[in-house]
Amino acid sequence: MSVCGRAFSFLLLGVLVTSCLPGVEPKKSTTSSISYCEIAENQLGSLSGRWRSLPIPVAFRADQFTKAEMQQIVFAVNVWNRFFLKVHKVNLFDIGTEDSPRQSTLNRSASLCSKSIVDGTGTYTGEVVIYKNMKWPYTNARSAIAFTEYCRRSANPILEMHVANIDINYEDFFAEGKPQPDLVTNIVHELGHVAGLDHSCNSKSESDARFVGCGSNPTQEYQDAVMYPFDASSAGQTRRVLQKNDQARSNCLYGGDAYPWN
Ligand SMILES: [Zn+2]
Repeated sequence: MSVCGRAFSFLLLGVLVTSCLPGVEPKKSTTSSISYCEIAENQLGSLSGRWRSLPIPVAFRADQFTKAEMQQIVFAVNVWNRFFLKVHKVNLFDIGTEDSPRQSTLNRSASLCSKSIVDGTGTYTGEVVIYKNMKWPYTNARSAIAFTEYCRRSANPILEMHVANIDINYEDFFAEGKPQPDLVTNIVHELGHVAGLDHSCNSKSESDARFVGCGSNPTQEYQDAVMYPFDASSAGQTRRVLQKNDQARSNCLYGGDAYPWN
């Protein structure tokens, strides 16, 4: 992706912004959102799963979040929803309204996979719950700002998601005296995982020809994605806008151009 004339496909406030090096003619932007499925060979391993139907219900764990925190999380939900409404005429997530967000009294479960939130017809019988963890449960991953856990069952050509949670680390981040990452940025990223997108490049050490490693200098497009695996070392990052790679990959999971279920 070139620096000049990069037209963010869709932006906060709906303003089209081009960033351009001085003296270089900006490219014309003809489309504001990517409506087609596009995925490179070296990203084929980056689709982790998908839900049978949309929108995916998402709820806050009741009595954990402040109003301001909920507003930021709803903002992140709307980043995905605006794109999906525009391109697919359906919200990706249903978190209720800002004034009356969905709330769940379910506690975190050590055996998440045992309780599916969708039945065989794709009807939701529960919600993806967001937890504010004052004690971070992933003690071997203290640098994680947030973590999405999901469970899948076999389906072709892409596995089917049937339950998920988002955990936010309020022990090592956000608390007083701790780093203050952009909550919206991190939730936009985690919601991408909930939808079924793995990272734009593979941060794990395993080698997979269908999933390019982040260490092998992936293209700028992959590095720009909200689904790039940035971590606590870049806690100051702000990535609130879905990029071409995020949009084009999510279109392979949902909508008229998605890979058909079979
Ligand atoms: Zn991630």
